[in-house]
Amino acid sequence: MGLSEITTRIAQAEAAAGRAAGSVALIAVSKVQPAERVEAVLREGHRLFGENYVQEAAGKWPAWRAAFPGAQVHMIGPLQTNKAKLAVELFEAIHTLDRPSLAVKLANLAQARGTSPELFVQVNTGAEPQKAGVLPDGVDAFVAEARAMDLPVVGLMCIPPEDEDAALHFQMLAQIAGRNGLSGLSMGMSSDFEAAIAAGATHVRVGSAIFGARDYGAR
Ligand SMILES: *Cc1c(COP(=O)(O)O)cnc(C)c1O
Repeated sequence: MGLSEITTRIAQAEAAAGRAAGSVALIAVSKVQPAERVEAVLREGHRLFGENYVQEAAGKWPAWRAAFPGAQVHMIGPLQTNKAKLAVELFEAIHTLDRPSLAVKLANLAQARGTSPELFVQVNTGAEPQKAGVLPDGVDAFVAEARAMDLPVVGLMCIPPEDEDAALHFQMLAQIAGRNGLSGLSMGMSSDFEAAIAAGATHVRVGSAIFGARDYGAR
């Protein structure tokens, strides 16, 4: 596939859902991808990327930010509290706020720095034991708690269970966001971003459909 095919499909999905052109941001998920693939997408003019690992992003992005002005990087992987300081220095947004201890840490960092990345609360819509995220019935209280700490919570994020209809999870996330007055919806990956756009996604996270398959052995 590649960048231009994905941007075309996003535009078609926006139109099909009766949504404004350009209302969905494409996060190109560059984790583990070889540098030349990421640089090709940067040279095509794309500027919004997603990374899963703080250390990996810290190694790659300072040079790319200097070479490609306007580049923005969002953290979409699980964030350990002891990596939070590096993360707030590296990323324009963090999509994986998933527990009170991380909220406290991010709030302390925000106070010390006078600024914070935008935050999405990760929701475990399928209540899967192995998956990170706040359980659906705990989201309202958690969002209130984060807001009370002055954290800039802008939306919700989810990764649906692999063996279920993703659309139902996207609809659930949109409903929870709506009742909490949150406009951001980070949902949809290579295999299901069109369904996510139909359900209201504002940010889709697409990796392999842009860059090709990831080779974890090469890390
Ligand atoms: C890796 C990853 C993606 C991208 O997955 P693809 O299937 O390659 O599009 C999206 N979101 C998260 C949270 C990821 O970890």
